[in-house]
Amino acid sequence: MANTSIALAVHGGAGNYVYKEQAEQLQNLEQVMAKGKAMLIEGACALDVVEELAVLLENSGLYVAGKGTGPNSAGEYELDASIMDGANRNIGAVAAMKGYKNPIRVARKVLENTPHVMLAGRGAENFASAQNCTQITNPLDYYIVQGITRLPEDLDTGTIGVVARDHQDNMAAATSTGGLLGKMQGRVGDSPLPGAGVWADQRVAVSCTGQGEYFIKAAIAADISARMRYGNFSLESAAQGAIDDMGVQGGYGGVIALGKFGLPVFPHNSQGMRRGWIDEHGHVQVKV
Ligand code: ASP
Repeated sequence: MANTSIALAVHGGAGNYVYKEQAEQLQNLEQVMAKGKAMLIEGACALDVVEELAVLLENSGLYVAGKGTGPNSAGEYELDASIMDGANRNIGAVAAMKGYKNPIRVARKVLENTPHVMLAGRGAENFASAQNCTQITNPLDYYIVQGITRLPEDLDTGTIGVVARDHQDNMAAATSTGGLLGKMQGRVGDSPLPGAGVWADQRVAVSCTGQGEYFIKAAIAADISARMRYGNFSLESAAQGAIDDMGVQGGYGGVIALGKFGLPVFPHNSQGMRRGWIDEHGHVQVKV
């Protein structure tokens, strides 16, 4: 059934390269979207939907997030994730966290159970342990990418993200990543940073993917909201304008963004962006 108030979009990373797993990724995005659509129709809140779908994407092993994460230059798996509730701007994020299966779950617990917005490194890991989050005992058994097997010029961006609007017209956003393959130890990208790789308020919900350093310099996710608020731009022109600005600096990537009304938008300046959304007829669509 077509539904006028709910809306949903997911991404599985923006990149210039086409991989053999692409058909599998699109199939997975379709399944994940179907699950999210059902949750929203049944009345789930946007925050729960973005968390649950991010978990499914993390567990798939098909993206550079969760199970599909690659090692940093020291051979370690350091992950970043964030979740934001547009109804009240509550945020939870983790950065450079090792050893836990679902960084987005830990981020949600930061949002719910701490007075803080972000925990990093050992502090995030200790907190995840105290919250009984699922641990990874042997990273070499768990993660699919075991070494830097791709040439540096093949580096792709495979972060995952979800934005949702529920029956109450509340919006939420989630982003989760293993970051750039072969990144320096301790490097934190845009994905866990509110205003850069994630944002949700009463105007818009945004999740980003691309070269994180450029997304941070452009404060791109918050910039979209600011363009709508101060410049009175439509969602579409605000998101496109923010991507254009980031592109002028030399970065590439894309965003999924959702406003208070209507359909999501997906501006990107990369060759492709794996994404799924609910169209105007209430049907799930997926595309690169
Ligand atoms: N934005 C992510 C980062 O820089 C990478 C990605 O989108 O895949 O960590």
